[in-house]
Amino acid sequence: MTTLHTAAPAVILVVNAGSSSVKVSVYAVPEAAHGNADINPMLSAHGQIEGIGVAPRLRASMADGRVVADESFPQAQVADHDAAFRLVRLVLSVGLRDHPPVAIGHRVVHGGASYAQAVCIDDAVLEHLEALVPLAPLHQPQNLTAIRAVRQAMPELLQVACFDTAFHAGHDVLAQLMALPYAYFERGIRRYGFHGLSYEYIARRLRQVAPDLAEGRVVVAHLGNGASLCALRDGRSVDSTMGLTALDGLPMGTRCGALDPGALLWLAQQGMSAAEIQAMLYQESGLKGLSGVSSDMRALLASEAPRARLAVDFYAYRAAQEIGKLATTLGGLDALVFTAGIGANSPPVRARICEHLAGLFGITLDAGANGNNSQRISRDDSRVPVLVLPTDEEGMIALSTARILRDSGRL
Ligand code: ADP
Repeated sequence: MTTLHTAAPAVILVVNAGSSSVKVSVYAVPEAAHGNADINPMLSAHGQIEGIGVAPRLRASMADGRVVADESFPQAQVADHDAAFRLVRLVLSVGLRDHPPVAIGHRVVHGGASYAQAVCIDDAVLEHLEALVPLAPLHQPQNLTAIRAVRQAMPELLQVACFDTAFHAGHDVLAQLMALPYAYFERGIRRYGFHGLSYEYIARRLRQVAPDLAEGRVVVAHLGNGASLCALRDGRSVDSTMGLTALDGLPMGTRCGALDPGALLWLAQQGMSAAEIQAMLYQESGLKGLSGVSSDMRALLASEAPRARLAVDFYAYRAAQEIGKLATTLGGLDALVFTAGIGANSPPVRARICEHLAGLFGITLDAGANGNNSQRISRDDSRVPVLVLPTDEEGMIALSTARILRDSGRL
C-alpha cells in the first residue's frame, strides 16, 4: 500500500455506500463554501471497495490517476459494509494524516417527506432514516451502516446526509399522488423521486455550459444501473419517473420499472412471499430479467441473443415514452440531456431513444457527435437540442456538505 498525500489543507470526505460497494472520495473544501457558486468540486483522492462479501477488491487513486492501492482480499476479510468502510478509511487515513476531514457527507437514498435539503446527522435523524429502510431496501441499510461506522470510529466528526429525494421535494401534489385511498398519501405513500443528487449536479452544469437552455423546460435522462428521468423547469425539478421507491419508471439493469400492479397481485396469489417478490423486482428483472443474458448494457449491445436485442429495444422504447410524458408535464421541451453510465457513454442507446422522439419533437442526432459522446449531439436543425453531460453525484455531496458547514458557521 502506497502512502496517499492529499493536496488540500482542509478536506471533506464523501461516502457513497452501494449494495455491494463502498466508495470514499476526498474533496478539497469547495470554494462554493466561500460564496462562489460556479466553482466545480475538486477531487483529491478516491478509494473504493467492490465485491463486498463476494470477491472484495480495494482500489485507491489520486485525482491525477496515480494508483495508490489495488488489492484483492479473501471473502471473509471484507464480509460486510462495516469492514469495507474501515478498510477504505484506513487506506485514505494514511494520506489524511496532515489533513483531517472537517466533515463527512453521505449519500442517503431516501429522506422521505421530511428533508428538502441535506441535514446534519444526529440520533433523531438516524432514527427517522432507519424507518425508511423498507422503502429502499437495497440502498438505505448500507447508507446507514456507513454512518454508524463513522460515528464509532470518529465520534466527534460532523456527518451530513445528502438525499437522493431532496431535489424533488418541491413537486406539485399532482406529481406526488398515487390513486390509492387518500389516507395513504397522508401516511407518506407518495411519489418522491430519486437520483436527485445527479439531477441537482446536472442542473448546475447546464447553467454553466448552456445558461439559455437551463432556464427552459429540460428532461434529464439518468441512465446507469439505476435509471430515471427528471423534468426540470428553470433548473428546478417538477417531476420524475421514480416514485415511492426506486423501482418505478424506466426498466433498469435489474429493476423492473413501472408495472401493472395487477401483476404483483398475481405473483402474490401464486404463493410468492413479499420478500421473494421484492428480490425479483429489485434484482432479477429489468435488462437482466428480460434478456436472460446480463444487466450490463455493454454486454447486451455486444450480444447476438434475440432477447438481448429485445431488452435493449424495450429499454429505448420505454425511455422515449417517459420522455414524452415528462414533456407533457413541462408543456414542451427545450432540451434533452443524457447522463450516467449508459446516458453519457452509449451512442447506440441514445440513438435508439432519439429515433422514437424524431416524430414528436423533431429531434435529429449528429451521428459523429453522438459517436464521440460530444457535449452537444443533436444536429443544428434538430428542433430540440440534445446534450451529453457526465454527472458527479459525489461532487454534489461535497458541495452540499460545504454549504451546511458554511450555513452553520463551521467554515
Ligand atoms: P451506477 O448506477 O451503478 O452508478 P453507472 O452509472 O456506472 O451505474 O452505469 C452502469 C451502466 O453503464 C452499465 O449498464 C454499463 O454497461 C453502462 N455503460 C458504461 N459504459 C458504457 C459504454 N461505453 N457503452 C454502453 N454502456 C455503458
